[in-house]
Amino acid sequence: MANAIVTGAGSGIGAAITRELIGRGDGVLALDTRGDRLESIKGELQAERLRTSVGDVGDVGDVERAIQLTQDSFGSIDILCSNAGILDDYTPAGDTSLELWDRILRVNLTGTFLMARAVLPTMLSQGKGSIVNTASISSFIAGGGGAAYTAAKHGVLGFTRQLAFDYGRKGIRANAVCPGPVRTGLTEHLFTEEGRQPHVDAIIAATPAGRWADPAEIAKVVAFLSSDAASFVHGAAYVVDGGWIVS
Ligand code: NAD
Repeated sequence: MANAIVTGAGSGIGAAITRELIGRGDGVLALDTRGDRLESIKGELQAERLRTSVGDVGDVGDVERAIQLTQDSFGSIDILCSNAGILDDYTPAGDTSLELWDRILRVNLTGTFLMARAVLPTMLSQGKGSIVNTASISSFIAGGGGAAYTAAKHGVLGFTRQLAFDYGRKGIRANAVCPGPVRTGLTEHLFTEEGRQPHVDAIIAATPAGRWADPAEIAKVVAFLSSDAASFVHGAAYVVDGGWIVS
């Protein structure tokens, strides 16, 4: 049984990762800015080994508090799933305000850095740890987001590879999962807002699987990458996109 931190755990892929890890017996510290969402997953899972922390991955104090709570609750941190992320509504560079750019970079990229930096001392002292960052197909191609999101997700993948390079010999594996289209809180507006259906349909048309993913389909790959079953997987970018980027 391992102990994990999952960020963005209140919704979508993060909630699915939490279900998956709790389901296999891991301890999980679920971090999210939205306390209501954390309460909801707590109520759903009723798990003894689930702790929650309301906080922002872009805030050093919130990150440190979550790390401390994980240590106090479980005594080790074996897995970090850095998954919190926000979308820029597909805004092109010319229409991207500095405020939007900073906000997207801070949550998606700086948050991933702050979480990794904060767990490293514990993982190094254990001589073992597994970091799985949620990147995206936007780590490879344009069109899965706007300018800031695509730049941030390219950064998440580069950062993950550097983590693998720097810490592999010290027992820490770092990998990225790169989802394609997943119906979650992040993308729900595309299904519900007027005039967005063509965007949803275009993605289906571009995807050999011919559909959007369920968050659980991403979470199962994250669970694998986080586990000893992936013991020789270092610095990988696991694309889970229904075939979007090869089509
Ligand atoms: P979601 O909106 O359903 O869930 C994201 C969660 O992160 C929310 O509960 C939100 O409250 C939380 N969050 C947002 N900012 C935060 C912060 N600063 N600190 C802590 N928590 C914060 O979205 P999702 O689709 O499950 O997204 C999870 C990850 O997957 C993101 O990194 C996203 O970029 C990535 N991703 C999603 C898709 C997709 O199609 N949904 C595709 C590729 C990658």
